[in-house]
Amino acid sequence: MKSQDIRKAYLNFFESKGHLIVSSAPIVLKDDPTLMFNNSGMAQFKEYFLGNGTPKSPRIADTQKCLRVSGKHNDLEDVGFDTYHHTMFEMLGNWSFGDYFKKEALAWAWEFLTEVLKLDKDRLYVSVFEGNPAENVPFDQEAFDIWKQYVSEDRIILGNKKDNFWEMGDQGPCGPCSEIHIDLRTDAERAAVSGRDLVNADHPQVVEIWNNVFMEFNRKADGSLEKLPAQHVDTGMGFERLCMAMQNVTSNYDTDVFTPLIAKVIAITGLKYTSNEVKNISEEQNKTNIAIRVIVDHVRAVAFAIADGQLPSNTGAGYVIRRILRRAIRYGFTFLGTKEPFINKLVEVLANQMGEFFPEIKSQQQLVTNVIREEEASFLRTLEQGLQLLDKVVAETSGKEVSGEKVFELYDTFGFPKDLTALILKEKGYSFNETEFETELQKQKARSRAASEVTTDDWKVLIDGNVETFVGYDQTENNVKIT
Ligand code: ATP
Ligand code: MG
Ligand code: MG
Ligand code: MG
Repeated sequence: MKSQDIRKAYLNFFESKGHLIVSSAPIVLKDDPTLMFNNSGMAQFKEYFLGNGTPKSPRIADTQKCLRVSGKHNDLEDVGFDTYHHTMFEMLGNWSFGDYFKKEALAWAWEFLTEVLKLDKDRLYVSVFEGNPAENVPFDQEAFDIWKQYVSEDRIILGNKKDNFWEMGDQGPCGPCSEIHIDLRTDAERAAVSGRDLVNADHPQVVEIWNNVFMEFNRKADGSLEKLPAQHVDTGMGFERLCMAMQNVTSNYDTDVFTPLIAKVIAITGLKYTSNEVKNISEEQNKTNIAIRVIVDHVRAVAFAIADGQLPSNTGAGYVIRRILRRAIRYGFTFLGTKEPFINKLVEVLANQMGEFFPEIKSQQQLVTNVIREEEASFLRTLEQGLQLLDKVVAETSGKEVSGEKVFELYDTFGFPKDLTALILKEKGYSFNETEFETELQKQKARSRAASEVTTDDWKVLIDGNVETFVGYDQTENNVKIT
């Protein structure tokens, strides 16, 4: 089944169950002081859950463009390195606003997965909240009993507060969640180790696909819970992961959501990408694969953000978008050897592929392409300048060790990551003084801490006094092992 048809099947199914189908809200939020980007389907309905305003229908379903690169949900660090977390992804969701509750929600989720899509029941596991007496929250007996009608007890996993309880904040609506996980390992692997033991254990082939949140309680200021007068359902299913399950592959990047983009990168660079089924690949091929995944992931995030009106800039959400794009450019530059703008050429592929369902990407195609091309050109110039400077530094170095201060200068002024510098130096037969680099880095950190109230030249963005920290970039820098 093609991804387009999977999306349609979901929306048709919930329409047949009396849901009003609505459009995705923009990926960028303009007037929410607590959130920069939409990071789940429920964000656009938040006010209804708080009892402010009435939805157009008590049952709604949609697919929401989400971006998880900041704040509470920051998956950037994993993107490209794993096969199932993206920066931008679609979250399929169905909602009940004071209408149906657990019984219908779980029955329909099961019906959709096993009867409409015909996913193998023996590969599915479900989880329910185990309860937490210290915080006054009971075991979700109701969900447990409902699931027992559909699956054997050994497929029901009791989950903790982190995975199976949702709360809006210290006070307010909250309630248990019930997740559905799928085991995509081979028969032999499944016979050897039970999928049950791998749920929520970061196994790339045993992944969470659907979360059903039941807004059942209100937490009061004294910490006690009371039943909400009207109870709500909020569900979210990862569209790309569902496509992986449906298309019999073991990586989201091997689905038709990503293969056309990957094909384009291959056509441009002449490099090879190996699917997740190909094992024992060389270290070199692995790096190429990671870089290609980063690029085809990031271009979606950046393109949809620009199409929704968020241009790359030096502040706020625009800065986050600029950094995501620069990360993609740098992976291309370092691992694919791309010295000319090329990411912008993927926009056409994306528009053809997604334009039918998300017309904004088609109508804004030219603008998005131009903006990305300009950004690429200017950042590639910066990288080139950095390279020239590095040549000069090498020429001025006696011996084979370059000063850590100079390497820091490159990092600080040109955004030239130290791993990239190390790689280039290594190719020339040089190394650099790591201790000196670290000393300079610490000095700079102290300086920027002092200046943090006035600068946005970091992943820190001040929103109404709240600091939203964007930590993924630096952490990922350190995770890229270039040998
Ligand atoms: P995970 O544990 O895999 O990080 P999650 O528990 O953080 O997922 P939820 O907040 O419950 O995810 O979101 C609902 C669904 O959205 C998940 O079940 C998953 O299928 C999907 N999803 C979550 N994060 C991502 C992501 N970064 N990329 C793609 N799909 C995602
Ligand atoms: Mg997560
Ligand atoms: Mg989870
Ligand atoms: Mg979850």
